[in-house]
Amino acid sequence: MQNVLIVAEQSGGHLRKATLHAIAAGQVLAGRTGGKVHVALLGKDLGGLSTELAGYGVTVHAADSAGLTHYLAEAFAPVVAGIAKEVGAGFVGAAATAFGKDLVPRVAARMGAACATEVLGFGGSGAAVTFQRPMWAGNVLAEVDLTTPVKAFTVRPTEFPAAAKGAAGEVKAVAVADPGALPTRFVEFKEVKSERPELTEARVVVAGGRGTKGDFKPLEELADLLGAAVGASRAAVDAGWVPNDWQVGQTGKVVAPELYVAAGISGAIQHLAGMKGSKVIVAINKDSEAPVFQLADYGLVADLFKAVPELVEKIKAGKGS
Ligand SMILES: Cc1cc2nc3c(=O)[nH]c(=O)nc-3n(C[C@H](O)[C@H](O)[C@H](O)COP(=O)(O)OP(=O)(O)OC[C@H]3O[C@@H](n4cnc5c(N)ncnc54)[C@H](O)[C@@H]3O)c2cc1C
Repeated sequence: MQNVLIVAEQSGGHLRKATLHAIAAGQVLAGRTGGKVHVALLGKDLGGLSTELAGYGVTVHAADSAGLTHYLAEAFAPVVAGIAKEVGAGFVGAAATAFGKDLVPRVAARMGAACATEVLGFGGSGAAVTFQRPMWAGNVLAEVDLTTPVKAFTVRPTEFPAAAKGAAGEVKAVAVADPGALPTRFVEFKEVKSERPELTEARVVVAGGRGTKGDFKPLEELADLLGAAVGASRAAVDAGWVPNDWQVGQTGKVVAPELYVAAGISGAIQHLAGMKGSKVIVAINKDSEAPVFQLADYGLVADLFKAVPELVEKIKAGKGS
């Protein structure tokens, strides 16, 4: 029997949705090993959040300390490793977000644990778990066997459903030792404020590429009508047309919304790696040979500057506005 420790991610007292997907992955693992799912929650003033998390049927270990107000890998990693030892975790994981990707390998190093990143699913049999993860922009699916006693991992949130509420679990307070002088210090958190949903959490994403020629206005109008986030190809980001954090793909964000609209995007494998898990893909491209049409559920061979405004008008008419 091996327990599973999932590290929760919160910002300003709000739980990142990706955590619920990581907990679901933890529940799959615990089902295999016969262990329990524990959740490490680090930060300041965690009372409400601890109770909310415990509602998912897990034991929450709340490390509530002024020194953990802002995320710093050097401060968080020893606390997580301490909780992992305390609960006898055989598996330590988090969602493969910027936070999880930064923290988990450090925890793994402290615990002498091998680490599998961007895990899509679990293989092997019974408690002998292997980790399935993408390689070569998702063109190869590797099955990785971690042979250390403790195994660390990050999971792609898009590959696991969000955990469901269950019988309320326990909340345990964790005593946090003074970390002493750290090699890094928190300076400032500059949040990008947007009325739109966060790209990785949006139900609908409208994305544009080089075909927009830098004019994202029609796409933004469509996105706002649909309550969508706006995404972009790397070509559009590299041209400086849109912010970096809009990039979808191998070196950008991985999204799996219910609807992904790709306009003026050719469909390079590095872009597809970030959106091919979307439930319904609509491609608008004036080149009928564009590779994106091979993946799209609905393809429109058209000039986006004509098709998108028409779509906007139709949706507005449908909504009666
Ligand atoms: C290591 C590595 C990592 C990478 N990571 C990423 C990544 O994370 N994300 C990513 O996106 N790319 C990534 N790339 C780049 C990727 O290979 C492509 O270069 C990029 O995705 C192309 O962007 P695009 O589709 O916007 O541009 P293009 O390939 O130039 O395609 C533009 C498309 O717009 C169409 N078009 C033009 N005008 C119109 C119009 N008026 N109406 C409709 N359609 C029109 C064209 O027919 C064409 O298909 C990476 C590359 C490498 C080597």
